[in-house]
Amino acid sequence: QAPEPDGHFQFRIIVLGDAAVGKSSLLRCFADGLCGGPGGAATPSPTVGVEFYSRTILMPPTGKAKLQLWDTAGQERFRSITRSFYRSAAGVLLVFDLTNRASFEHIPDWYHQAVGDQPPAFVLVGHKCDLVAERAVSAEEAGHLATSLGMTFVETSARSSFNVEFAFQTLAGGIQQAL
Ligand code: GDP
Repeated sequence: QAPEPDGHFQFRIIVLGDAAVGKSSLLRCFADGLCGGPGGAATPSPTVGVEFYSRTILMPPTGKAKLQLWDTAGQERFRSITRSFYRSAAGVLLVFDLTNRASFEHIPDWYHQAVGDQPPAFVLVGHKCDLVAERAVSAEEAGHLATSLGMTFVETSARSSFNVEFAFQTLAGGIQQAL
């Protein structure tokens, strides 16, 4: 993750969580600007297949960081994520669905799978915050879990694009701090 000759950084980021929590939608919204739409994604497409996204962001005060963003591409359904997927990740977005309690309860498992010898930076993401009436996890308990795991908690929506930029910026900031 060393700076390139022009002073810019390149960070490898992985997005983890149960199937259907919205990982691909979050990535498409952030990397390709494909937010909104009835289901939360402008172009409904199956998760399996697309696995890599990239976007360059500004890192205050002067730098830039190219984020290489990796999706599990459906592997999480079979719990067959390889060790090499976790290795060399500088940052991890741990995503659960605010309307799906089980996806929240599985977060510690995902965390323990991803935390290796050189722990990456983490952000806990409670996704689909637009579905207010179906909410199954409070901000307070998610905040408690995040604190106990030593990370920040952010609520996002790919439907409204709420906090999507902020979640990735927060993670990139955490990576930079750890350098
Ligand atoms: P993945 O399996 O974790 O990659 O999840 P997907 O990105 O495929 O999304 C699973 C389902 O949740 C799809 O039907 C999406 O349209 C929907 N979804 C994703 N993000 C949001 C969101 O922010 N709000 C709402 N209401 N639905 C979403």
